[in-house]
Amino acid sequence: MNTNFLQTPIDYLKGVGPNRADLLRKELGIHTYQDLINLFPNRYIDRTQYYKINQLQRNSSEVQIIGQIIDVHEVQQKRGKRLIARFQDDTGDMELVWFRGHKWIRESLKLDKEYVIFGKTNWFNGKYNMPHPEMELLEDYKKNLRSAMQPIYPSTEKLSNKGISNRVISKLMQQLFTETKGVFVETLSEKLISELKLVSKSDALFNVHFPKNQELLSRAEYRLKFEELFFIQLQLIRKNLIHKSKIKGFPFTKVGDYFNTFFKTHLAFELTNAQKRVLKEIRSDLGSNAQMNRLLQGDVGSGKTIVALMSMLIALDNGFQACFMAPTEILSVQHYNVLLDICNKLKISIKLLTGSSKTLERRKIHEALENGELQILIGTHALLEDKVKFKNLGLAIIDEQHRFGVAQRSKLWKKNSSPPHILVMTATPIPRTLAMSVYGDLDISIIDELPPGRQSIKTVHRFDKNRLKVFRFIRDEIAKGRQIYIVYPLIQESATMDYKDLMDGYESIVRDFPLPDYQISIVHGKMKPADKDYEMQRFIKGETQIMVATTVIEVGVDVPNASVMIVESAERFGLSQLHQLRGRVGRGAEQSYCILMTSYKLSSDSKTRLETMVRTNDGFEIAEVDLRLRGPGDIMGTQQSGVLNLKIADIIKDSDILLHARHHAKKILTKDPSLKNPGNKTILYTYSQITKYKNIWNYIS
Ligand code: ADP
Ligand code: MG
Repeated sequence: MNTNFLQTPIDYLKGVGPNRADLLRKELGIHTYQDLINLFPNRYIDRTQYYKINQLQRNSSEVQIIGQIIDVHEVQQKRGKRLIARFQDDTGDMELVWFRGHKWIRESLKLDKEYVIFGKTNWFNGKYNMPHPEMELLEDYKKNLRSAMQPIYPSTEKLSNKGISNRVISKLMQQLFTETKGVFVETLSEKLISELKLVSKSDALFNVHFPKNQELLSRAEYRLKFEELFFIQLQLIRKNLIHKSKIKGFPFTKVGDYFNTFFKTHLAFELTNAQKRVLKEIRSDLGSNAQMNRLLQGDVGSGKTIVALMSMLIALDNGFQACFMAPTEILSVQHYNVLLDICNKLKISIKLLTGSSKTLERRKIHEALENGELQILIGTHALLEDKVKFKNLGLAIIDEQHRFGVAQRSKLWKKNSSPPHILVMTATPIPRTLAMSVYGDLDISIIDELPPGRQSIKTVHRFDKNRLKVFRFIRDEIAKGRQIYIVYPLIQESATMDYKDLMDGYESIVRDFPLPDYQISIVHGKMKPADKDYEMQRFIKGETQIMVATTVIEVGVDVPNASVMIVESAERFGLSQLHQLRGRVGRGAEQSYCILMTSYKLSSDSKTRLETMVRTNDGFEIAEVDLRLRGPGDIMGTQQSGVLNLKIADIIKDSDILLHARHHAKKILTKDPSLKNPGNKTILYTYSQITKYKNIWNYIS
C-alpha cells in the first residue's frame, strides 16, 4: 500500500465517525491510517483457553468463558447505580457488572444467546463477578479475523468510558487491514532482510496485530524493533559522518616535549590499561583531519583528569591553546590546583577564570588569551562568556558533561574560526546502549578500570535511630586520622526546610564533636564562593576533620584522606547522586565507608535505590537500575534523541537488538555514506522520509 494512502485521515476508516475520530486523535494521537497501523499492542492474551464457571479460582487472572445472560437488572447503591447481568454456563453462574455507561450496554445485551466473555474475575458475596467484561456473541466471535493471541492495545480511561474498548480497536485494525489488503511498503533493503532473515514489513505488521502463535509474533516484533532502532542509528551515525567530513579539525601531528617530559618525569603512577587505551583513541582523533567530538565515560575515581591533562599537553605541543571547563567553582579550583603544580614544572602558563575572578584579573586573562601567552585556561561557565576569546584554541574539555547542555557545548565550538577538538567527560555513566542513542553524535571512550590498590567502598544502610553508633564510628575513624563527609539534601538551594535541616544537623554535630578536639567545616550553596573555597581548602589541607555539606560537593572533589561518606536522608537522593557522593571517598589507600542514613518510612523505589547502593560499587550497574526506575526521560539529551518516542523497541530491554541495528547501520554507511548505491535505495527512501517528517513512525510503514 503506498504511503499516500496511509496518510488518509482516520475519519475515513469505516467504523470511525467524527466522534471516534476525535477521541482517537486526542487520546492516542491517531490522525491517519498510518498512525493506527503503528499503534502496537502493549501485550497479548492467550485466548485459546476457555474456562468453565466452576473452574474459576479466587486468584485467577483474565479468563474467557462461554455462556448466556439470563437476567439483567439495576441495583441502586450509595455511589450511583450499577448494572448486573446474571451469566451462566452448564457448570454454574456468575455476575457481569457495569458501573458506568448503562443505557447502551443494557440495550445491546441479548438474553439467552451464547456470548464469549473475557476479563478479570472477583470473588464477592459468595459469587464470582466480572466487572466490565469484554464480550461478543459467539457467532460473531467465530466469524471474525482473530488470532489466538489477542492483542491488548494502549488505551485511556476516557476511551474505555466512551465505549472504545480494546475490541473496538481490534475491529478498526481489521478494517484497516481489509482496506489496505495488508500490503505495506517495504522499508529495509532486500539485502538486510535476507542477511538477517527478517520477515517482510507486511508480514511483520500483520503478525504484530493478529499473531497466530508466539513464534510468528516474536519474529514480527523483532523485525519492527530492529527497523525502529536501525533508522535512529542510521540518522545518528550519518550525522556524525557528515560532521566529520565537513568540519575540519586541526590535525595535531606530533606528540612533543610537553607530553613526553610529563610522561617520563612527572607522571607519578603507571596509567591503567583503560587510561592508555583511551589516550590512544584521543590521540588518533586529534591526529586526524577531522574535528574530535568525544565522550569520555569513567566511573568516579577512574582517573579522567590525568587523561584530560595529557590531551591538553598534546594540543600545547602543536602550538595550540586548551581550556578545561567544570560545572562548579569548587571543582574548577580543584582542577586548577592539581594542574598548576604540574604546569609550573613544565613551564606552562595556566590561569583560572570563574564567576568570582576580579575585573582586573579577568582583563589580564582576556589579553593573554588573545595574544596567545596563556596556554591553558581552567574555569566554570565563565569560559563561555563572549569576552573570552582565544588566539588559537585547539582543544576544549568539559568535565562532568551531565551538568551542561548541548547548547553550552556548541558555544565552545564557536570560540574559534574553526571549532576546537572537544572532549566531554562524565562520571555519571549511562548504559552504553543509551549513550549510543543519546550521544550518537559523539564518539565514546570508556575507562572501565580503577587505578590499582583501591579498596572497594563498604556501603551500609542505617536508620536514624542508630545515629549514636554511627557517631561512635566517626570518632574511631577520626582517631585513625581519617576525614569524614556528612551530606544533607538540599535539592533546591532555596528550600528553607532543607536549609534548616542542614543547620540543625550542623549544630548537633558541633555539639557531639566539640572544639578543640574536632574541627568542622561547612559548605552550602548560600555561602559566598570565597567562603566556600576557604572551608573547602581547610578540609583539603586536613585542618578540619568533618565536612558538613550539601550536594555542592557532589562532583569531582578529591580529598584522598577522606574515608567516610555519610548521607543524611539518603532516601531523598537519586541513585546517580548517591553514587557520585560515594565516589568522594575511597580515593586513598584506606578502607572507606559510605553510610546511608534514612528514616523508617521508605517508598519501594527508595528501598531499591538503597539496596542497589549497598550491593554494588559498579557505576554502570547502578546506571542500569536508575534507568529502570526512572525511565530514560531524566537523562540529559534523551529528549532530543528520540529514544523516548520509541513505539515498539525498549531502549533497555532491547539493547541487543540496538547493538545489532547499530552495527548494520554503521556497516552500510561506511560502504555507502550517501546511500546512493542501488541496493540501498529503499533505505535511502525511508531515511529521506524520516528526516523530512522528523518522525520515524510516520514513515516506516
Ligand atoms: P575522576 O575520573 O573521578 O575525575 P580523578 O581524575 O579525580 O578521577 O582521579 C582520582 C584519583 O586517582 C586522583 O587522585 C588521581 O591522581 C588518581 N589516579 C588517576 N589515575 C591513576 C593511576 N593510573 N594510578 C594511580 N592513581 C591514579
Ligand atoms: Mg573528575
